[in-house]
Amino acid sequence: MSRRYMVAGNWKMNGNRAENAVLLDGLLAGAGANAKVEILVCPPFPYLDSVGARLQGSAVLLGAQNLSEQDKAGAFTGEVLGAMLRDTGCGHVIVGHSERRALYGETDELVARKYQAAQKAGLVPVLCVGETLAEREGGQTEAVLARQLAAVLDLCGADSFAGAVIAYEPVWAIGTGKTATPQQAQDAHAFIRGQLRGRSAKIADSTRILYGGSVKADNAQALFANPDVDGGLIGGASLKAADFLAICAAA
Ligand code: PGA
Repeated sequence: MSRRYMVAGNWKMNGNRAENAVLLDGLLAGAGANAKVEILVCPPFPYLDSVGARLQGSAVLLGAQNLSEQDKAGAFTGEVLGAMLRDTGCGHVIVGHSERRALYGETDELVARKYQAAQKAGLVPVLCVGETLAEREGGQTEAVLARQLAAVLDLCGADSFAGAVIAYEPVWAIGTGKTATPQQAQDAHAFIRGQLRGRSAKIADSTRILYGGSVKADNAQALFANPDVDGGLIGGASLKAADFLAICAAA
């Protein structure tokens, strides 16, 4: 089963109009249509409209970094509805990033409800899972991944993963410069795929699993070469066009 690579840029809470313009100019100059890799950028909410307008006519896809678990408009100050993201041209949304889980108290259950809300709104969820350093050192990696996945599988079912994307992001590797070794990444990805296989072989074979955590131009190729690694979710290195394009080229 061949899965198309995806390289997604998670800009996090970075950028402004001027910086975004420079980044997008560089990105669009270098990111021609590439049959092998799908490229996604996820800017902060206030820039979705302007970034989306700039991406019009290009092959680069637009996504958001978070959404509300609500599926209808209403009195939820500060929240953003999935349908609003669709309306601004987003096709994807990151769900359950470890920073959301750790800093904003998102539980497995809330993440699953956000995943469900994304799908109801017609967005492709990029579901993030991953263990902390203490969990890895405590031999809990597989248990944590299984629990995080089960929350979504139990609420939404295996078929909900048709077209969805998973990102394995070991928390200890995010923004730390400490990357998982290609073997550590492959082992975790194979485990995640195995969890899907327990529910549906077809979904296990077709679901893309991205690696995230200090991916750089010089380590991307070794990570992406693994059979179960289908691309990357890139934070810091997605903020410079040349770095991000080099990672895309490694796919
Ligand atoms: P990083 O972030 O590439 O800066 O480690 C990855 C992520 O958090 O998605």
